[in-house]
Amino acid sequence: MDLLIPDKVHDETRQGEALILEPVGKTNGRKLYIESYGCAMNFSDSEIVASILAEKGFETTSDFNSADVVFINTCSIRENAEVRVRNRLKEFAGAKFRNPGMVVGVLGCMAERLKAKFLEEEKLVDVVVGPDAYRDLPNLIEQVDGGQRAVNVLLSREETYADISPVRLNSNGINAFVSIMRGCDNMCSFCVVPFTRGRERSRDAHSVVAECKDLFDKGYREVTLLGQNVDSYKWSGQLAEGVEPLAVGDEITVVNFANLLEMVALVSPELRVRFSTSHPKDITDEVLHTIAKYENICNYIHLPVQSGNSRILDIMNRTYDREWYMNRIDAIRRIIPDCAVSTDVITGFCTETDEEHNDTVTMMDYVKYDFAYMFKYSERPGTLAAKRYADDIPEDVKQRRLAQIVAKQQEYSFYRMQARIGKVEKVLIEGFSKKSDKDYCGRSDQNAMVIFPVSENYKPGQYVNVLVERTTSATLIGTIVE
Ligand code: SAM
Ligand code: SF4
Repeated sequence: MDLLIPDKVHDETRQGEALILEPVGKTNGRKLYIESYGCAMNFSDSEIVASILAEKGFETTSDFNSADVVFINTCSIRENAEVRVRNRLKEFAGAKFRNPGMVVGVLGCMAERLKAKFLEEEKLVDVVVGPDAYRDLPNLIEQVDGGQRAVNVLLSREETYADISPVRLNSNGINAFVSIMRGCDNMCSFCVVPFTRGRERSRDAHSVVAECKDLFDKGYREVTLLGQNVDSYKWSGQLAEGVEPLAVGDEITVVNFANLLEMVALVSPELRVRFSTSHPKDITDEVLHTIAKYENICNYIHLPVQSGNSRILDIMNRTYDREWYMNRIDAIRRIIPDCAVSTDVITGFCTETDEEHNDTVTMMDYVKYDFAYMFKYSERPGTLAAKRYADDIPEDVKQRRLAQIVAKQQEYSFYRMQARIGKVEKVLIEGFSKKSDKDYCGRSDQNAMVIFPVSENYKPGQYVNVLVERTTSATLIGTIVE
């Protein structure tokens, strides 16, 4: 079992969620059903897909039985993510049998990984579309309408969908994801992402700032800037003719991640800025100083370690070692003393010994992470690790190591939560708590979920100060203080 201590970037509760949007006016009488799996990038991409098809008059539905087009936006990161999608496709078979004109499409990473093979393996599927080919969807649907099956899995070196203003789906109107780059050039040996999402490219900085400003004007109060490796964000270009300067930095023609963070932070002090994911080899002191400088850039960094052992990090091709990672943690503690840190860990990577696993445990003792996503290694076809190393750690050993770090993380999550008791947290109210409409919920600057009694003086989208009185291992509980 993979244990997920929830945060927003890979939200287990949203897996398989269907996306619904307000009709935009023109309709072609056809209904789109789209559900998404995997990381926030995929959920963000589904918003781009819905925008492209809304332009062509498609409306969305939350019921695949009544849909004319059924899309599943997929994840390939671990084998169980793919198994989940295959099982879900079986559930669409009955609907397709009743409505043979229904178009069934597979989008995203699994589509890219399997390409036309998907059509051979899953007879139900009419169209297979990779993450850089969504602009082609209207044509591909037309081809299927004309009786063909269709595939477009071309990866691009340029596509960032910068000009597509995504419709926000299932939104609370307060938090939004903003994609700032696509692809990944890192080639970690265990990872399928460079093969499924292509080369890294950064989106036009001004289009990112414009999107954040537009969100703020519509009432949104938090943006999460998304990329597989946000610290290597780099955009060079001129302010396009006719585009009004938006913020400081508009005169800059080469924008790095620290510059971009600052440009977005300056949209408004009332707009919270988060980002994910940072890579330990790339996160610079300049980025840390920018976070420290702006109150509205949240004190929270997701810094995946994967392993605490330098030999394993080397064969994972992570390009940093244990000492480097610890140095980055020390820099975070020095420059942003009240910063929460979360991580990703893989247990049972090829050839990992018990001693090497223990280095991961002691790394957890060193950092005392606020949250962690922990996974057993899952060999992915085509990756460097699959080609070079045997997946030689027995399942029961992987499981034992996973259980050990899960238990350790629970201790540290609780420890971090307990340390907030008696403190006042600035919370952005997101809505009613899941359990009761007598309580509000929202996130602290450090990304902890906070629950507190509703006050009629405040509504979702506003900031409140909450005195923390008690905690569970995942939630702070308190009351509003003026
Ligand atoms: N780009 C991000 C990074 O480098 O941290 C994360 C990308 S990936 C979508 C999220 C996490 O999935 C990784 O950090 C890693 O812990 C995990 N992961 C990736 N490939 C895996 C594999 N083959 N088996 C198990 N976990 C894997
Ligand atoms: Fe995968 Fe590594 Fe790129 Fe993250 S940085 S997406 S783990 S290759």
